[in-house]
Amino acid sequence: MSFAQVALPLPLRRTFTYRVPEPLAERIAPGVEVQVPFRGRPRRGFVVALARENPLPDATALQAIAAALGPPLFSPHLLQLTRWIADYYLAPWGEVLAAALPGGLEGFAGSRARRAAATDPIARLALSDRITLTAGQRDAMRGVERALEGGGFAPLLLHGVTASGKTELYLRAADRVRARGGQTLVLVPEVALGSQVVREFRRRFGTRVGVLHSYLGVGERRRNWELARRGALDVVVGARSAVFAPLPALGLIVVDEEHEPAYKQSEMLRYHGRDTAVRRAQMLGIPVLLGSATPSLESLANAARGKYARIVLPDRVDRRPLPVIRVIDLRREGGGSLLSRPLLAALGERLERKEQALLFLNRRGHSHHTQCRACGWVPTCPHCDIALTLHLSPRLWRCHYCDHREPATAQCPQCQAALLRLSGAGTQRAERELAAALPGARVLRLDTDVARERGAPAELLAAFARGAADVLLGTQMIAKGLDFPRVTLVGALDADVALHLPDFRAAERTFQLLVQVAGRAGRGQRPGEVLVQTCSPEHPAIAAACRYDATGFAERELAERREAGYPPFVRLATLLLTGADEGQVERAAEAVAEALRPEAEAQGVKVLGPAPQALARLRGRYRWHLLLKGTSAVKLRAVALRGLEWAESKARPARVRVIADVDPAEVL
Ligand SMILES: [Zn+2]
Ligand SMILES: [Zn+2]
Repeated sequence: MSFAQVALPLPLRRTFTYRVPEPLAERIAPGVEVQVPFRGRPRRGFVVALARENPLPDATALQAIAAALGPPLFSPHLLQLTRWIADYYLAPWGEVLAAALPGGLEGFAGSRARRAAATDPIARLALSDRITLTAGQRDAMRGVERALEGGGFAPLLLHGVTASGKTELYLRAADRVRARGGQTLVLVPEVALGSQVVREFRRRFGTRVGVLHSYLGVGERRRNWELARRGALDVVVGARSAVFAPLPALGLIVVDEEHEPAYKQSEMLRYHGRDTAVRRAQMLGIPVLLGSATPSLESLANAARGKYARIVLPDRVDRRPLPVIRVIDLRREGGGSLLSRPLLAALGERLERKEQALLFLNRRGHSHHTQCRACGWVPTCPHCDIALTLHLSPRLWRCHYCDHREPATAQCPQCQAALLRLSGAGTQRAERELAAALPGARVLRLDTDVARERGAPAELLAAFARGAADVLLGTQMIAKGLDFPRVTLVGALDADVALHLPDFRAAERTFQLLVQVAGRAGRGQRPGEVLVQTCSPEHPAIAAACRYDATGFAERELAERREAGYPPFVRLATLLLTGADEGQVERAAEAVAEALRPEAEAQGVKVLGPAPQALARLRGRYRWHLLLKGTSAVKLRAVALRGLEWAESKARPARVRVIADVDPAEVL
């Protein structure tokens, strides 16, 4: 008789043992999807291990697997990878496995019966239009080739300024891997950006490129997943969840725009796509290439420590200059308009010259944020070095890391001007202002509302590329990766939204965002210009971005992080509690903190809070959190686990949910 460990896609951080009935013995193997009885109901799950011996004393008490649903869906390597994610991110293994399937478990059911009759894809396109590499690209390529030839795990940080030709290096590296019969996985942060990378790969590799991302229909994703698994694709390009793509001959992983917060999933399974990619490369003993014009401070610190090899592309291709960045001081502009006079003048010039412009407005108009429009002052926590959040009843500024409180004044303590409460200004308002100020301008808007319609972002970007509009107005979706040669002006409408987010990474994000958005200008024959509107022109992140001084910014910011005790010098995890009743959520947060404190003391982990989140209420649910800080990931997880154990016990009020987030991308 044999036994199987089954992981179920349920919020339970354990596996379950089942008997393998004799008639099914041949078909039950690790990675197979099965149907099992669970608490009186049939459930689908995954076999993760087999055993000859029954681990429990009484074999008759064990239930039997009811059905095997096909050949194994997961290789031993993918089982190992998903197990690592489950352990590291404190997630149920069964939920990780379900998330690793295209469209999740539900989307996957039944599809295998009518598996795509796979026509063999046509051979890849010829390399008729080879680009000559610049000297800088050649040097960088040699570094990549060394890693590919050397064999073994090799993390490479490709730090190349915008328009320095990073994609060309990805293409050539993938070509080398393909020549030896290997496969390449290319991760991109977002689909709007991905589409251009996909196009480049399609041009070079023809139909032996498969795309995996959630904007595709489940059917197409499953088909590509199946082709990848059978080795019929040389390259798979996809967003975060493509990190799970089944690639039997995986020889290289590329993570484009590695600094992007979009790689961290911020709901459900809270894993980091880039960090998972690095771990996958390490498990397989292959190179992983992390590319960015503005690498994350984590990756720069890893390079400084010698953990990553850093490869630099310091110049744009064709020796095109980086665009000049000009700061517009909104304190002198007055009024409440989103478009300053210098910006409107610059837009008018572009319209006359038939050039294009990108206008960028950060997504999060955050109405609980206070800033003096006269002098730029922002209230900050004396302990945590982050912006304080305005609470209205009672009227207080509160730190949502340590819960420091002070009375919210009506006047600026620095210049005595009245502090107005700003509501989040959105892209739609900017669109109306543009129409009023420049009635002749043809404007396209791309934000999350537009992006929700399937295929809309790609169509919109294609229309802009054809010259169907003069101005593309959007959220951070348009900040990165896009390549429109006719764009000569970029406007960042409000740099302060990002700069004063109550998040310890606010300065880093602002630097990255400004350099990235600036990188969209002047990619063609004509030079580019960038206008940054801000009330904080002297802030180090803005000053450094204007000089493209990545090294100077990183040195300064890393020193501050070390001082204040933030990553990459300490590790963070949060425990998030949500519920409809605020008092209940608050009491539960205090009880969790109480429950994990002994473990935290034993492990030397610091517990901050509990405190309400900056966005203390979302979709009718109140949100509180605890912030855990420690130098060791293992110790941090041990403490977070205590909190989750409390949440799984009877002590937790039924209507309060508790979620752990390890290495959170944002602590808001
Ligand atoms: Zn002031
Ligand atoms: Zn604080």
